[in-house]
Amino acid sequence: MPSHPSTQHGDFASLGLAPALCRAAAEQGFDSPSPIQGLAIPAALRGGDLLVRAQTGSGKTAAYALPLLQQLLRADPAPAPRSGRRRTRILVLVPTRELAQQVGEFMRNLARVLDSAPRIAVVFGGVSINPQMMGLRGGAEVVVATPGRLLDLVDQNALQINALDRLVLDEADRLLGLGFADELGRILALLPRRQQTLLFSATFTPEVQQCADALLHEPERILMDAAATEAPDIVQRAIAVDESRRTQLLRHLVETEQWPQVLVFVATKYATELVAHKLVRAGIHAASLHGDLAQGTRTDVLQAFKDKEARVLIATDVAARGIDIARLPVVVNYDLPRATADYLHRIGRTGRAGESGLALSFVTAAQEAHFRLIEKRQQQRVPREVVTGFEPTEQARAEQLAGGVKGKRKSKKDKLREAAALAKDDASASKR
Ligand code: AMP
Repeated sequence: MPSHPSTQHGDFASLGLAPALCRAAAEQGFDSPSPIQGLAIPAALRGGDLLVRAQTGSGKTAAYALPLLQQLLRADPAPAPRSGRRRTRILVLVPTRELAQQVGEFMRNLARVLDSAPRIAVVFGGVSINPQMMGLRGGAEVVVATPGRLLDLVDQNALQINALDRLVLDEADRLLGLGFADELGRILALLPRRQQTLLFSATFTPEVQQCADALLHEPERILMDAAATEAPDIVQRAIAVDESRRTQLLRHLVETEQWPQVLVFVATKYATELVAHKLVRAGIHAASLHGDLAQGTRTDVLQAFKDKEARVLIATDVAARGIDIARLPVVVNYDLPRATADYLHRIGRTGRAGESGLALSFVTAAQEAHFRLIEKRQQQRVPREVVTGFEPTEQARAEQLAGGVKGKRKSKKDKLREAAALAKDDASASKR
């Protein structure tokens, strides 16, 4: 397990966590709390609402999971309802299936060390609802869910959420940005009048702010800025290459750089399969991951990659967010993301939890201008490299496209166009 750099927040016990939960954290390989945990755990244990700005990779899952499980320990034994079902006390809402599975698994691992382990149900769409209904027979104290499936289950009376003690909105910006706003509204209307609510979001969009205003009662605010979170140690590199030679270059790099594992982002579902297929033919264990695969297949592919059975995973942006792959050393942008904001999400898959990582982008002539926008957005220049044997032949066109031909300064119009493109990018990124 990666270890977070030690903080001034001392160990887990000093945050008010019970010995059993300190043991659970230690079993995860956590030596000391991450900065967000140092602030959020005691605040959550105090019982009030929380509004937290934190990125994935900051240790935010444990920041809510540990205090929630502790509160479950301390709660009075549930008065057996007439149905004989366990009462759902904690609901964690997440935007994607993958995150639901990840959070559920993490909470189950933590809960294993507890004497009376709570039942933790994980529910998400895209798979048959029946096994999830069966899993909920007898009830579950903790439910981790994506909004749509949660509502289906409530509608079918497989689950009741009107007597919760605590609610977590994880990655609230994405929950609200992924078109879940209506579903979220319906869920909130079903909740009891007062429960403790913890809202976590990487960004505070107007939608998040509005939701926080409506939902949270005098929340304690914890705003981790980028530097104070993990300041991931990610080395960025960019290689100029011709579009048609990218697969060969990828293969060459996988073979020569001896990366143990690499996550490669491409623009289309078709490309994930094509590139994976070509690598497999070259004897490299590669797999593809995209949104059209059946949910079961997606889970298996991701698990195989996490288990290090596959060395290269070629994915669309479906895989870009929320997913935590321990010790992923390299991310390659075979295609650049359309929205500049997604660049950071993608490269954030590496260099997590205090480890260093490499983010490598292929920059074709056609994508050169776009990469400049990405550089500008993150205020960091990434020098273009050329790999021997893969020298680009489309360089001149690239300069033309970027409007950066030597001796010609950018016109005011060009600058305006660039600014408009950035703004459009922001808008489309926040919609996703
Ligand atoms: P998250 O931000 O919740 O997605 O967590 C990112 C990664 O950090 C996960 O792999 C966690 O297991 C790991 N992690 C969380 N808290 C700690 C900690 N205190 N020490 C070491 N690793 C941690």
